[in-house]
Formats: sequence, structure tokens, C-alpha cells
Amino acid sequence: MLIPLITEIQRFSLQDGPGIRTTIFFKGCPLHCPWCHNPETLSRENEFYIYASKCTACGQCVKNCPSGALKLDSTPNRKGLLTFNQSKCILCMKCVDACLFGAREIVGKSLDMDSIVREAVSDKLFYKHSGGGVTLSGGDPLFFPEFTLELARVLKTEENVHVAIETSCFPKWDKIEPLLEFVDLFIVDIKSMDPEKYKYVIGGSLTEILSNIERLINSKAAVRIHLPIIPGFNDSATDIQSYVDYLGQFADKLSGVDILPFHSYAAGKYVQLNREYRYKGINDLPGQQVMPLVNALKEKGLRQVTVGGITGTAST
Ligand code: SF4
Ligand code: SF4
Repeated sequence: MLIPLITEIQRFSLQDGPGIRTTIFFKGCPLHCPWCHNPETLSRENEFYIYASKCTACGQCVKNCPSGALKLDSTPNRKGLLTFNQSKCILCMKCVDACLFGAREIVGKSLDMDSIVREAVSDKLFYKHSGGGVTLSGGDPLFFPEFTLELARVLKTEENVHVAIETSCFPKWDKIEPLLEFVDLFIVDIKSMDPEKYKYVIGGSLTEILSNIERLINSKAAVRIHLPIIPGFNDSATDIQSYVDYLGQFADKLSGVDILPFHSYAAGKYVQLNREYRYKGINDLPGQQVMPLVNALKEKGLRQVTVGGITGTAST
């Protein structure tokens, strides 16, 4: 069984499903959306954050690095600055242990099932009173189908909590179907209605994803759709119309649609992960700009349409 690293177990989360929830973020996703708001969850490998402002140029990490990936720059105008050659890094994490100033921090922990469950259910009392529960998120939990199934089973059958899963529904149906027994709510991202964009920009099969969504609906599962709206990628009139036409067919069957306008809150994380952020300088999309989509979906009869999530900023 492939076991994920966990980047965070976020308690008192209000935007990942109904009520007060605990959200478990799995590290690893098979897709590669260039705007990803959780870039630390893209790779399933070990990684570390670099906090340049905390570095005192003491050189301890350089001394401990076995692969020569780190050095203190000696050129006149960069003297003393730490440079990192990612291509030489073997992810041994010795530099993280060597740094006494917290300038390097590991992303993602290896946790066993019992400790994840223990932490996930520690706010059970709040779930009961608020209609909340536990959300499996990421990354994509379905990148680790066996582990996700077992975690959902324990949470549902042994802990009796409401279980939601946030996924792009990318795998084959046989990896999704067993979850029907243990998952109360499937929250599924659709990132475009254009198969070519899915294939070449995001790296997935739209046909497979839509087929899985329809199978979930036909199985009478509770399904909410998340629509991230990204400037220049899926915000044209044609994109919006194709969302409305597709989702309109399932108006009386979907639990709701959450429209998630682009924001750049994650920009700092790309710097800390030493990765290029392709949306640098692109402005956040104001909520008013997605109102035509909200209104068109409501006209089609979709029940609960929100901007930002079930308890998001502008529930409509
Ligand atoms: S994690 Fe990479 S940079 Fe850090 S010590 Fe190991 S090889 Fe060097
Ligand atoms: S050990 Fe920490 S403070 Fe010292 S040079 Fe390396 S990153 Fe900077």
C-alpha cells in the first residue's frame, strides 16, 4: 500500500465541507495545475521549505550537505548568500537538521494510520454540534487509493464521523467505487470543460473524470463540484457556458457547486519551495466577476451555489 506523507492536519476548518471539520492534507497529486494553491502537496516526495530571511549564512548546512548542493556565494555583490542547486539535491534532509535558525523546514510528515485517526477525531464533539466531520484532501487522496479507503473505513465505521473527500476524480472507477460505502460527500474539482487543456496543461483525462462524476451521481452519492476560476485559463464566456451546460444536466442531483475565484495567496510558498510561480503578478479575481456564472447556474436550477465554499465568503 502506498502511504502518503501528510503536510497538515488542519483543525476547525470551515471551508472543506459542511460544519466544523478537520482536514487532512495528503502530499501528492498526479495533476499539475500551474496555479495550484497548495504547491507543497504536488510532489509525493520529501521536500523542504527555505526561509531565506532566517538564514544567517553560518554555513552549517553547507558543511553537512553530502552532495554539494549548497554553497555560500563568494562573488562580491552576493558574498555570504546561500545558494542551492536543486539538481544536485538528494533530499537527505541533513541541512534541515543542521540549521539552528529554522531557515529550512521539512514539508510533510510520515504518520501512521492510528495517529492520523486520533488527531482527526479529537474534535468529534464539535462535529456533532455543527454537522461537521473529517475531510480528506491534498494533493489528491485518490493518489493513494488503498490508504484512503482504509482511512475512510476507520473514520466511518469505527469513529462514526461524517467523511468528505476532495479529489479531482482522476483514477479508474474501480479505485473510487469502494469508497461509496464510507464517504458521505465527494467534493470534485472540474478545472476545465476542454479535454485538450486537461491533457496538456493539467495532465489528466477529462473524459475519465466526467465519467467518474456521472457514476458517482448515478450511484446516488452526495457530490459537490468545485470550480476554480483562473484568469486566462477557464474564465472566458465559452468556458463559463460549457460549465453551465454540463452541470445544468445534473441540477437536481448535485448537492451544490462552489465557485473558487483565483487568488495568489500561495505565491510565497512557491518561493519557499524554490519553484517557479507561473501566476506571479496576476491579480486575484474579485468575487463579483464570477456572479454571471453563479446566476446562470442558479437559473439552471442548481441548488446550493456558493462563492468560496459551503460556508465560504459569499454563500448565495
Ligand atoms: S537535502 Fe539536499 S541540500 Fe539538504 S543536505 Fe541533503 S542533499 Fe544537501
Ligand atoms: S544552516 Fe541555516 S542559517 Fe546556516 S547557512 Fe544554512 S540555512 Fe543559513
